[in-house]
Amino acid sequence: MPPPIVVQVVVDKPLAQGFDYLWNEELLGGPPELGTIVEVPFGRSLLVGLVIKVSAYSDYEFDKLKHIKRRSPLPPLDPAILRLMNFASQYYIHALGETIIPTIPQMWKKPNDWEKIPKKLATNAEKKKKKSNPILAEGFIEEIHLNEGQKRALEKLRACPLDEFKTILLQGQTGSGKTAVFLNWLSGVLENTNAQVLLLVPEINLTPQLERRVRAYFPDKTMVVLHSGVSEKVRGIAWHDAMTGKAQIILGTRLAALTPLPNLRAIVVDEEHDPSYKQQDGIRYSARDLAIWRAHDLKVPILLASATPSLETWIAAKAGRYEYVRLDQRAQGASLPKVYLVNTRDPQTQFSPGDVDKPKSKSLITKTLANAVGKNLDSKQQSLILINRRGYAPVLSCGACSWLSKCGQCSSYMVLHKAGALGRKSMLSCHHCGLVKSIPSHCPDCGNADLKTLGQGTQKIEDAIEEMWPSARVLRVDTDSSRKSKGAEELFQEIHEGNVDIVVGTQMIAKGHDYQNIGLVAVLDADSRLFSQDFRSAERLFAQLVQVAGRAGRSSKDGETGGAIYIETQFPEAAVFQFLLRHDVDGFLSFTANERKEAGLPPFAYQALVHAESKSLDKAIHYLSGLKGYLKAAGLISKGLRVYDPVPRAMMRVAGSERAQLLIESDDRKNLQEILEVTDRYLRDHSQGRISKEGHIRWLIERDPTSI
Ligand SMILES: [Zn+2]
Ligand SMILES: [Zn+2]
Repeated sequence: MPPPIVVQVVVDKPLAQGFDYLWNEELLGGPPELGTIVEVPFGRSLLVGLVIKVSAYSDYEFDKLKHIKRRSPLPPLDPAILRLMNFASQYYIHALGETIIPTIPQMWKKPNDWEKIPKKLATNAEKKKKKSNPILAEGFIEEIHLNEGQKRALEKLRACPLDEFKTILLQGQTGSGKTAVFLNWLSGVLENTNAQVLLLVPEINLTPQLERRVRAYFPDKTMVVLHSGVSEKVRGIAWHDAMTGKAQIILGTRLAALTPLPNLRAIVVDEEHDPSYKQQDGIRYSARDLAIWRAHDLKVPILLASATPSLETWIAAKAGRYEYVRLDQRAQGASLPKVYLVNTRDPQTQFSPGDVDKPKSKSLITKTLANAVGKNLDSKQQSLILINRRGYAPVLSCGACSWLSKCGQCSSYMVLHKAGALGRKSMLSCHHCGLVKSIPSHCPDCGNADLKTLGQGTQKIEDAIEEMWPSARVLRVDTDSSRKSKGAEELFQEIHEGNVDIVVGTQMIAKGHDYQNIGLVAVLDADSRLFSQDFRSAERLFAQLVQVAGRAGRSSKDGETGGAIYIETQFPEAAVFQFLLRHDVDGFLSFTANERKEAGLPPFAYQALVHAESKSLDKAIHYLSGLKGYLKAAGLISKGLRVYDPVPRAMMRVAGSERAQLLIESDDRKNLQEILEVTDRYLRDHSQGRISKEGHIRWLIERDPTSI
């Protein structure tokens, strides 16, 4: 009898270790391989797991071990993706099984369907052959059509060897044609017919546009698109084509960063500064950072593109750790939009009672802005008006007592949505927990029937615009409108086709879209993000303003202005606005870098949060205090390492849970890793999974948090 084969398997559970199983070659049709997806008995149930080790030994007696039940017909995950997952698991202090199993599409985690898979894949390939897609040549820019600046940038990129690790920052102002440059660069990589390239974008809404462009650019390459918006089945097939090397171009959002790609030769992270690259539940990874690690591991180049690089990336490029390539000219020759700061404290910017054109209802639209929009309408250009609050009004209030429409489950207010947005009736809705309520006819506290709205959201601004310019065609773009009738893509199409004069929307409209006829952009609520406890808020606001400003004046068909952006603010002197006024991205980053350095904040220090969630805030705080006490007593809080007192989260209460956090900060990455590992072990030892045995506190460690 041959010696038994032992395999170690990880499953999707918060368990630090894998489990040993016996592998029966005869039953499973061959020897085990690392990275094989299997079905295993686990407790009283069956789970999908992954083989991470093969050996002839076990710490347990063989007759105590259970047998692997089934193996999936998929080829094993390649060694490189296993290395990436191992790294992610260690760095983000998250169990390996919990890191890796969720990245496998649902479709491949149904063992009862495994037998049918080979047939399914075959019929799918057949179908694909029959359906040949006509290629739209929209947005296709050949190398010969690149301008001088783009050509120079491309030359610099091509000078980087393709078989070496290199991080390249491609910093180019909005409209400078970064996409054309990196697509041309990728065409060089794809001359190797087996090569795979990974192209990451921050937002689902940006994929259709880029997808068309990439398909037109590489008509003879197989491309797959991976994001949470594609159906499970389509995603399953796409993932399969990627992991078997059949697809050469993988376009996707952050989850695509964890796709197995056996022939990966280059990575592009577009809009690398975008906060949506950070995963906010489960393993809280940064897709950009993992992509850099992956490129390093594979010894291939990675290109980070942005008009407003993150401080981390910009500093690395300045210091020469990254290759630094710049594009400082707008592709179609247009100049940058002119920035106007509308000081809302200045009475001259406001309508006065005597004005003939004074609108009946009060809104955030100042007289200065109204005049500019009117002129823009006259010149047959589109206006884009941005307000980052969807709904009609952020809160409903009682004029007689102090009642406000608070959410019963969260520390936030319920937003008033007028009829048509969420349902046929007007509703109150909580944007944090999703609770929806009908609007009370009387104040629940005092019975007063006169309830008033406070503040303004997209719906209310839409109403105001319709009142001020009754003949203008107005379109609202936010997650409500894109969910309702048409998808976001169709709404954007309306704008592209010129069927709209004024667009009002959330930041959804601000990113990446190559609108051709926007003459004016306005930001109504910039101040709301100016003062925030989060030290990154100014950096984010600046990036958003540059992005949205960049939507204006992209075409130079009149050969003249680059359009205009109006920012309504009470604080025009704030640094963010002053740098924007001069389009001085580097000035702003350098100013912010100094501020952070002085304050000892990232990227000059490294941070992690320990989250605790409970029915009661006191219990969550008490739990974290206990952890801090332990770390102190164990002598782990040394010089250069700071453990702060636990505090409630900014959004303290969500869906009935109260949340607290403990901030750990270190001048040194290694020290932080050590203390986090100890923390993890300590919390695990006193928990069942991720719930503490005592007090039932749900906990989680988050490395490199992006909001504090
Ligand atoms: Zn009242
Ligand atoms: Zn709520």
